[in-house]
Amino acid sequence: NKITIAIDGFSSTGKSTVAKQLAKALGYIYVDTGAMYRAVTFYAMDRGLINESDFNVEALIYQLPKISISFKFNEALGFAEVYLNGKNIEKKIRTLEVSSFVSKVAAISEVRQKLVEQQQKMGQDKGVVMDGRDIGTVVFPEAELKLFMTASAETRAKRRYQELLERGEQVSYEDVLANVQERDHIDSTREDSPLTKAKDAIEIDNSNMTLDEQFNKIFQLANM
Ligand code: C5P
Repeated sequence: NKITIAIDGFSSTGKSTVAKQLAKALGYIYVDTGAMYRAVTFYAMDRGLINESDFNVEALIYQLPKISISFKFNEALGFAEVYLNGKNIEKKIRTLEVSSFVSKVAAISEVRQKLVEQQQKMGQDKGVVMDGRDIGTVVFPEAELKLFMTASAETRAKRRYQELLERGEQVSYEDVLANVQERDHIDSTREDSPLTKAKDAIEIDNSNMTLDEQFNKIFQLANM
């Protein structure tokens, strides 16, 4: 019997790594909802609707119907890459620049409404592992398994910093830590669907866990 697995938590808690592994082991689909918010953010940046000094919220809301987000499985990578209006933007959405704007875009109710609706459609047949901030609370409040991942801000910033370096981005640890903390703050204080742990979610602090330990624990929970 296929179930719905919701994985929520703060930025860079390693949700996507474990979610991908879990989906593969169970033969489920994996949906990275953060990639969808990043795609809308990339669109806004590309059209000049958002930059350091201003953000044309009305224009973005007006243009939402023109934004089409899809995923296509990449055999070589072993996961689905994100497409914006038919173009592969997977590599463009993980930058610190997109990260610096995404929480502001994700705070807009109209954006959330559009993406939540699409996420619910993608998961309607169960057999899905979805990661994000509001999966267990808003997207699938009926999910059979809900996990809430945490780790200290420093642990998370170190991991994210390492990832960005490996991708060849010139960033400082201080900037990455500041971004992680800023996103935590915006995500947990916004009016629409603030990031909170669902009452029935199982909290996993992975500050001192290896990837294997995490996977084993979660795989066990998924098979209960
Ligand atoms: O998961 P990731 O760090 O890629 O998500 C990027 C941002 O998108 C988050 O910081 C948050 O602002 C937003 N987000 C959200 N709801 C989700 C997934 C992501 O608001 N379900």
